[in-house]
Amino acid sequence: MSSASTDAAVLAKAVVRLDPISLRTKRFAALTTMILPLLGTAAAAYFLLTGRFTAVDLWLFAGMYFVHMFGITVGFHRYLAHKAFRTGPVFEAIMMITGSMGAQGPLMWWVTTHRRHHRFSDREGDPHSPNLHGRTLQQRLHGLWYAHMPWMLSDENSRWSVFAPDVLRDRRLMYFHRTYPVWVVSGVILPGLIGWTVEGSARSALTGVVFGGLARIFLANQAAWMVGSVCHAIGGRPFANEDRSANNWPVALLTFGEGLQNNHHAFPGSYRHGVTWLEPDLSGWILAGLGKVGVVRELREPSREQIQTKRERALSTKKAE
Ligand SMILES: [Zn+2]
Ligand SMILES: [Zn+2]
Repeated sequence: MSSASTDAAVLAKAVVRLDPISLRTKRFAALTTMILPLLGTAAAAYFLLTGRFTAVDLWLFAGMYFVHMFGITVGFHRYLAHKAFRTGPVFEAIMMITGSMGAQGPLMWWVTTHRRHHRFSDREGDPHSPNLHGRTLQQRLHGLWYAHMPWMLSDENSRWSVFAPDVLRDRRLMYFHRTYPVWVVSGVILPGLIGWTVEGSARSALTGVVFGGLARIFLANQAAWMVGSVCHAIGGRPFANEDRSANNWPVALLTFGEGLQNNHHAFPGSYRHGVTWLEPDLSGWILAGLGKVGVVRELREPSREQIQTKRERALSTKKAE
């Protein structure tokens, strides 16, 4: 079978069209986790411009940004979606809770969407490709915007039994899937509680929620969604993947390494997104450290030879063009 007809056969089984009630629920949840954090960001800007904030608020923002990005990149992405390493139940729980605090959807939705993205990268069936909307400048800009946010409102989901039967069978993981809203709300309230404990006033509880909860969700997710939009359009392509994935360093800095999409699509099972240690991949560095102290184990990464072979293939493709 040709790869196009294989794609079509997989695609026919891979996508679920949502009934009106499920679609309404999905859109309500997605819009709530976009609009409330946006309003919180406006409030944070107001507090910043009028001087109504303290150093604690800024620390809460930074600390919760770290927790959020760690949970999504190390937990949901490298551990759950790609199985790039193994660990025990306590660290797994920490990753699933912090990943859920990222408010990017319950973990089953995240994993199935992401695995479908890899299966169909930049071809029909990719849930968030910026490259399927036409070639004119206007169409490309529309594609970039669609791949950034509106794709989350689409009337289809990825089928769980096709993309994540392993997660579906895992009762521990499914517990964190079902309790997703609890963790999102906890991630908003927690910085408020810390602010209140440290500074002892109701106002510091409020600014804690605004900076460490809502503004953090909005800004961290804007960075994270650039991985799906910008990093499939703009950046370097050291490996000749069959998609438009690109290494974008500014996005990689903001997303703890996820912006190195070209590397990641070349070696999706690797716990590291940097092929060299100099590429900005904070999550890869953290995992290497956690591997040394035994918190995680069986970290997968490509061998030097595998990297070299793919590099050479990319060079010969460029020469042929
Ligand atoms: Zn990608
Ligand atoms: Zn991936």
